[in-house]
Amino acid sequence: MIKRIVLLLLALTFVVQTGRAASKPNIIYILSDDVGYGDVGCYGATHVKTPHIDRIAREGMRFTDAHATASVCTPTRYAFLTGRYAWRQPGTGIAAGNAPSLIQPGTVTVPSLLKQAGYATGLVGKWHLGLGLEKTDFNGEIKPGPLELGFDYAFFIPATGDRVPCVFVENHRVVRGDPADPIRVSYQGKIGDEPTGRDPGVKLKIRGDDHHSDTVINGIPRIGFMSGGTAAHWVDEDIADRLTTQAVKFIESHKDAPFFLYLATHDIHEPMVPNPRFRGTSDCGWRGDVIHQLDWTVGEILAALDRLKLAGNTLLIFTSDNGGAIKDTYDDGTNPLHSRQAPNGKLRGFKGSLYEGGHRVPMIARWPGHIPAGATSTQLMGHVDTLATVAALTGQKLPAAAGPDSFNVLPALLVEKTPAPPRDHLVLQNNNQAPLALRQGDWVLIAKGGGRQGAAKAKPGFELYNLATDLTQTNDLAAQNPDKVKELSAQLEKLREQGRSRP
Ligand code: CA
Repeated sequence: MIKRIVLLLLALTFVVQTGRAASKPNIIYILSDDVGYGDVGCYGATHVKTPHIDRIAREGMRFTDAHATASVCTPTRYAFLTGRYAWRQPGTGIAAGNAPSLIQPGTVTVPSLLKQAGYATGLVGKWHLGLGLEKTDFNGEIKPGPLELGFDYAFFIPATGDRVPCVFVENHRVVRGDPADPIRVSYQGKIGDEPTGRDPGVKLKIRGDDHHSDTVINGIPRIGFMSGGTAAHWVDEDIADRLTTQAVKFIESHKDAPFFLYLATHDIHEPMVPNPRFRGTSDCGWRGDVIHQLDWTVGEILAALDRLKLAGNTLLIFTSDNGGAIKDTYDDGTNPLHSRQAPNGKLRGFKGSLYEGGHRVPMIARWPGHIPAGATSTQLMGHVDTLATVAALTGQKLPAAAGPDSFNVLPALLVEKTPAPPRDHLVLQNNNQAPLALRQGDWVLIAKGGGRQGAAKAKPGFELYNLATDLTQTNDLAAQNPDKVKELSAQLEKLREQGRSRP
């Protein structure tokens, strides 16, 4: 009898799995930039209004323990696309604007896996994972890049808004590149004939000495040196419009086939330059205004899905690439207002930190009929889990070498019972390969020393917190719990040495 029930359950599981594989929902992954745990309404923000992002939460599931895997851009994006912790590969910290491709062509990635399942795959937005073989030549065919890593189409910002080159790339070419005005990019030294930029546009002053201004484009100082390509310069206040238009176009042109859209917004990374129609719409300065701009982008995506009647068959995810920071690097005249909005709510730390505020981020998933509406999940997960999760979603088996740190968290999205939680531990990093933090159950062990969290002079050692009783990480329990410290530090070392964490 028991045997029969087991067989029946196995058969049902098979039907469910094949049924799911056959359904192949469209997948839209909106990765916002530097949006903290407390920066959107459905996570408690009160000084900004995010009705469109909140709508996804109302119609889907909100995760309270989702992590960006790293607390800065490049390593998070690396882990998201490859299912591998970035700290396993040297040189995956915040990339220069002319860095070579950090991911080797041939690597199994989220888009290459989905392409194999018949998806049309598109990237719109910020790349920041390097381009080219040694360094990037922006005047010719720019590759390898997104197209060599599984995307059929790409419209992107090579690195970030605050660094050169300040141009869009479409597939292999700079948009409006001009052979008569070749682009030169350097992160080593001055080129000598920096452009003055076209219309000076917004004048942002840089504050502090730690931020170097090498090149001024559109009146805004940038990191790195650039000359040429004047006609190709983006207009900062129009970046959100450009990206949103391209994203909606991609959805429209693939409405009849399963598609995967990776929409990596520029908002709300610095320099925060809201389009004039969003300026002054929040009461916390331009930082709040660009959150409104981001919410508008999300609204345009939702509207396109409604208009094309695709909402029911689309898995839509909204999240962020690292925790928030109060941005006062650029002086936009509204800086004193920025701190009204607590970027990470009550969490300790900011972008670049190993504390929760550095990497615990909003994450919301909607898939009508599959993910319950208005639900909340406390399941621990990281963006590094995307690869194994979309493999399960599309009925594919990950090759053993692919996504060595990626766990299938689909059961958490679909509220399916599993014998054990899909994931019980997670390694977190900042910009560097060390120190790292290990989350295990309610405990988090943070290695001290180095990194951007201002602990450079700290003696090597560990901090230990119990997040069940101390989410704000005010009570370091390391001294009281030497055995726990020993156990977790040994586990962290083992995860590092064995080169993978997925069983
Ligand atoms: Ca970021």
